[in-house]
Amino acid sequence: MLKPNIADPGVTRHILKAFDLHASKRLGQNFLVHSGTVAGVVQTAEIRPGDRVLEIGPGIGTLTQGLAEAGAVVTAVELDKKLPTVLAQTLDGYEKVHIVGGDILKTDILALMGETPFKVVANLPYYITTPILLTLLERRLPITRIVTMVQREVAERMVAMPGGRDYGSLSVAVQYYTAPRLALAVSPRCFFPPPAVESAVMDCIVRQAPPVAVADEKQFFRVVRAAFEQRRKTIGNALKILGFSRDTLQGACARAGIDAMRRGETLSLAEFATLASALAEI
Ligand code: SAM
Repeated sequence: MLKPNIADPGVTRHILKAFDLHASKRLGQNFLVHSGTVAGVVQTAEIRPGDRVLEIGPGIGTLTQGLAEAGAVVTAVELDKKLPTVLAQTLDGYEKVHIVGGDILKTDILALMGETPFKVVANLPYYITTPILLTLLERRLPITRIVTMVQREVAERMVAMPGGRDYGSLSVAVQYYTAPRLALAVSPRCFFPPPAVESAVMDCIVRQAPPVAVADEKQFFRVVRAAFEQRRKTIGNALKILGFSRDTLQGACARAGIDAMRRGETLSLAEFATLASALAEI
């Protein structure tokens, strides 16, 4: 049976009108109305028939339809209580789509998805992009790939290298857990309503093992966060916030072969790892 293409702007308008829906700014609702972008996300995720996918925020089912058409088995978690009823109709006939009501940040993803590897594909609500990404990464879930629409500015932070203004704790976390790539630039015109910002599709392949040796991940990320919290300060000063004395910090930096006068934003992932280990040993 040929289904109406939800990504078609006319079809989206019709669905919104028929269900008396008004895109909620508070919930970050900017629905995709560009088939090429839906296809681009699905292609980026290299969806094959039978792939298990967790979608975050299916909205009225636009991306969900693209995923289902490609043969994915989709579990989609949606916070807006009005939408499951809508999705039951817009996605009627797609047997392999399972809609779950709830907040992704409060969802037990492992209980929902189980231990079998899966991909995450989403047009994320921009107001909670970072907490969602960190939740997905830090919980060590059996995720193989995360393909998400994010603000262009966030995408640039995710792939930023040391030295630039975009490089920060998000860059370190994303690059520690995944191999990220900015796959597609997306114009505000591809959404209804159009967001005030440019967007991008990020393709993050989850690493089997971290790219650098880190003995204590908690300590590593504490050091990273502290270094960027006061990014104008030198490493020797910024890390005092963690309770280390000046001498301890100088000693750890010397041991790690890092000039304590450098700013955190110039340190590579490997240097952060060496510094965190040196601090743990002192
Ligand atoms: N996937 C649809 C699309 O591409 O057109 C909608 C994307 S829209 C940018 C983000 C979706 O996430 C909305 O449907 C919104 O209601 C939902 N959402 C917002 N916060 C959420 C949360 N904490 N947990 C789950 N879904 C959420």
